[in-house]
Amino acid sequence: AKAAGGNRFVFYSRDMTERAQARLRLEGGLRDALASRSFELVYQPKIQAAGGRLTGFEALIRWRHDGVPVSPADFIPVAEDTGMIVEIGRWVLDEACRTATRWSLDHGPVRVAVNVSARQLADPGFADLVEQVLRRHATPPDLLELEITETVIMKDVEHHLPALSRLRDRGVRIAIDDFGTGYSSLAYLRRLPVDVLKIDRSFVNDLPHAPDIASTVIALAQRLLLTTVAEGVETDEQRRWLAEAGCDCLQGYLISRPLSADAAEALVMTAFAH
Ligand code: C2E
Ligand code: CA
Ligand code: CA
Ligand code: CA
Repeated sequence: AKAAGGNRFVFYSRDMTERAQARLRLEGGLRDALASRSFELVYQPKIQAAGGRLTGFEALIRWRHDGVPVSPADFIPVAEDTGMIVEIGRWVLDEACRTATRWSLDHGPVRVAVNVSARQLADPGFADLVEQVLRRHATPPDLLELEITETVIMKDVEHHLPALSRLRDRGVRIAIDDFGTGYSSLAYLRRLPVDVLKIDRSFVNDLPHAPDIASTVIALAQRLLLTTVAEGVETDEQRRWLAEAGCDCLQGYLISRPLSADAAEALVMTAFAH
C-alpha cells in the first residue's frame, strides 16, 4: 500500500509539473503576444429584437498561440493573475475605439462594447485610461459601451462607483454582463450608473421552457428604464420568446457568430445603405 501511495504521489507530482509547465508556456506566449500586439478582435453583432436592425457589436479578443487558437476563457484568467490584463485591456480598448470611430465616420454611428475585467476596473487609472483612448481617436463617448460582469461590479460597488459615474457622465454606456448569475443588491442596482442588463446565456438557453429568470430580468429592466440584451440566442424559438417578452436586443449564434473586422464592417455598410 505504501508503494502504491508512493507511486501515486510521483504520478500526481509529474502531472502537476506538466501543468505548471503548460501554464508557464501560456504566460510566456501571452507576454510575447503582448509585445508584438498579435491579438485580434472579432465583432459579434447585436440587433433589435423588434425589427432586426443592427445596434452594434461586442468586441471579443482572439489569440493564436503558436498557430493554435486559445479561448479567452482560458487565457484571460491567466492574464488577470499575472496583471497582464491591464495592458491587454488597454490594447482592446484602443483597438475597439479606433475601429468604432472609423466605421462611424465612413458609414454611420455604430456602437462597440468592450469587456472589462476585475483587475482593469480596480486599477485607479481606469477612468483616465478610457478618457485618454476616447480623446486619442476622437471617439464620441456614446459609441463605447463597457461590459462589466455582475459579479465584478457588485463585489465592491462603493469602490467602483466614482470611476463608473465619471465615465457615464461623459456619455460612455455601461452594461452589466452575465446578469442573473451573481448576487445583485436591488438597492445598488438602482444607484449604479448603468444603461444595459445583459441576460446571461444560461437563462436564454432555458427558453422557452423555463422563462422565469428571463421574464424577471426584463421586467426589472423596464422598471429601472434599462435596456436589455439577451446573449447566446441560438434558436428561433428563443428569439420569438424574447421579442414577445419585450427584450430590446439580441446577440448570439442565431443572429451571427463573431465576425472579423472586415466582415463586421461589411455588415455596417449594409445597415447604412438604402
Ligand atoms: P462573455 O463576455 O460572456 O462573451 C460571450 C461569449 O459567448 C463569447 O465567447 C462569444 O463568442 C460566446 N457566444 C456568443 N454567442 C453565443 C451563442 O449563441 N452560443 C454560445 N454557446 N456562445 C456564444 P468568447 O469570445 O470565447 O469569450 C469568452 C469570455 O472571455 C467572454 O465572455 C469574456 O468574459 C472573456 N473575454 C472575451 N474577450 C475579452 C476581452 O477583450 N477582454 C476581457 N477582459 N475579457 C474578454
Ligand atoms: Ca461580454
Ligand atoms: Ca456575457
Ligand atoms: Ca456569459
